[in-house]
Amino acid sequence: MRDRSCGRRRVLRGLAFCAVTRWRFERASAQPAGKRTPLVRRIPTVVIDPGHGGVDPGAITADGVYEKNIVLATASEFARILAARRSYRVALTRSTDEFLPLRERVARARAWKADLFLSIHADALPDTDTRGLSVFTLSAQASDREAAALAASENRADLVGGVNLSRQPRDVGEILLDLTRRQTSNLSITLARDLVDQLGREVVLLERPQRSADFAVLTAPDIPSALVELGCLSNPTEQRLLRQRGYQQRLARGLVRAVETFFAVRGAV
Ligand SMILES: [Zn+2]
Repeated sequence: MRDRSCGRRRVLRGLAFCAVTRWRFERASAQPAGKRTPLVRRIPTVVIDPGHGGVDPGAITADGVYEKNIVLATASEFARILAARRSYRVALTRSTDEFLPLRERVARARAWKADLFLSIHADALPDTDTRGLSVFTLSAQASDREAAALAASENRADLVGGVNLSRQPRDVGEILLDLTRRQTSNLSITLARDLVDQLGREVVLLERPQRSADFAVLTAPDIPSALVELGCLSNPTEQRLLRQRGYQQRLARGLVRAVETFFAVRGAV
């Protein structure tokens, strides 16, 4: 009995893998009706998320500079340079000083069918001597917890892009979600490595710059995501640098190179 159920699960896993692969192929070749050309790749959509905004200032420096303004300026510069490449569709979750709940940021990225999601922040640490940039992906525990909550929720439809899980048998739905989540997690770690490599050429990195944590904004199961802490507003030197346009442009150039490396290495979406 046990063998038979294991065998069934293996078959379901195989079917689920085929479904995800087919969906990714269809998504990659999706074009407007009438203009469909086989094997023409669509350009990737990159969603940039400047943290905080509106009533939520984020970290505040000793002399009253808000994180929300620094990250919006840097994210806007990043978006401008990336869009000028004409190889990506670029969208900002916010382009003004507005408050956006974390779940709304993820929802917008999913609605825009993002291929990449980058949340931009700046840190404030208790030790004011500490400085440097760091990159976060979702921790495995948080990812498991999120997946369990999603799997348990009533509304599982469309959780993995084009695949409507509510129409799948329960086993298939869970396996599809699990496969998608694992693939997304691996790609997010690759993305974080690219970010650390490229940004490390521009600015000082924090000790152990590649980290993982329980960030709600990184929980889309089907979008490779990372959160960049541009530096420490608690450090007087770095706080001064983060406010300078030239420094923000250096950060933006490093972010653009990381995105280009990510898509160049893994191919088109
Ligand atoms: Zn922040």
